[in-house]
Amino acid sequence: MTNSVAILGSTGSIGTQAIEVAQMHNLRVTALAANTRVDELVKQARQLRPELLCIADESRYSALKEAAAGLGCRLLAGTEGLCEIAQHESTETLLNSVVGMVGLLPTLTGIAAGKPIALANKETLVAGGALVMKAAEEAGVPILPIDSEHSAIFQCLRGNKRGQLKKIILTASGGPFFGKTKEELRNTTVEEALHHPNWSMGSKITIDSATLMNKGLEFIEARWLFDLAPEQIEIVVHRQSVLHSAVVYDDDSVIGQMGVPDMKIPIQYALLYPERLPCPTKPLSLTDYGTLTFAKPDYETFDCLTACIRASEIGGSAPCIANGANEAAVAAFLGGKIPFLRIGELVTAALDQIPASPLTCFEDVETADRRARAFVAEMMRESGISA
Ligand code: MG
Repeated sequence: MTNSVAILGSTGSIGTQAIEVAQMHNLRVTALAANTRVDELVKQARQLRPELLCIADESRYSALKEAAAGLGCRLLAGTEGLCEIAQHESTETLLNSVVGMVGLLPTLTGIAAGKPIALANKETLVAGGALVMKAAEEAGVPILPIDSEHSAIFQCLRGNKRGQLKKIILTASGGPFFGKTKEELRNTTVEEALHHPNWSMGSKITIDSATLMNKGLEFIEARWLFDLAPEQIEIVVHRQSVLHSAVVYDDDSVIGQMGVPDMKIPIQYALLYPERLPCPTKPLSLTDYGTLTFAKPDYETFDCLTACIRASEIGGSAPCIANGANEAAVAAFLGGKIPFLRIGELVTAALDQIPASPLTCFEDVETADRRARAFVAEMMRESGISA
């Protein structure tokens, strides 16, 4: 169990909950990093007095300098600052909850410096899973998943023989548009897509949940984390988000992990691993729920999910291309530039039209990611939309 934690993405949904968990268990917070929110970051720093404080958006560094004057923190900026935190001597465990591909380099840097990684940045594994898992294995560094499904699987694998694992059941809430057809989703607004039935999360992941891209990313994430073949992952829609995922062993015993849909449970499990201590959350009452339901996903309507599974089968840079195209498309949707269904079309088109290549180093990942984003920008330009 760790005594302290450095948090990348501290003003986001996972970051703020991680601070709550750290405070409950008297873990020292040694570093905080946010993307753009200077005021919230400094407010956190005033309370927690970390050694290092970083703003990822370099254009806000002078604002940070002004706001954090007198706090006694060392001030950092940009991806360089995130990487400095990742490898700093004061960092005991690195919690990476930044959003998007930008989280990959800090993760790799932390691994190289031998720091255990509590990982909530799923794009890291989707885009650079091969590099991350290889580096972690070589350095003997644990990757502790914070994504609720992967935390569930990680927990279900404890105490059993890994070689006797048959498959995993990855549960999906189905998002706000479960049961809808493409026709019904044609005029979906940003506001409707941002309304998730069970989980309260940041805007990028909430849109990914609405398109089921999130489940596609998690499919790829699970492959890397648990070294699985695509056919060993069954996706099941479970509307209540109580069973967070399950594993099936060779004797067809199914072992699942349940709890209320509250990210503090997986955050705490990663930070206190392997201990289980009281968590600041509501206990699960199965009788309050009464019924738990399970259904097959609709691969026709939710083409982002289909694209991710295909990308996973193609391998190499394909998952990175799907992820990069999605990041660009979601930003365009949130900016009111493209309709909701266009996200899936752009991800599918990027995967169809950009040839996949092997990923052997960070630069390969960056190149594939850049190509996917440029492809989306080009497609938008062709339809008369400025990217
Ligand atoms: Mg999840």
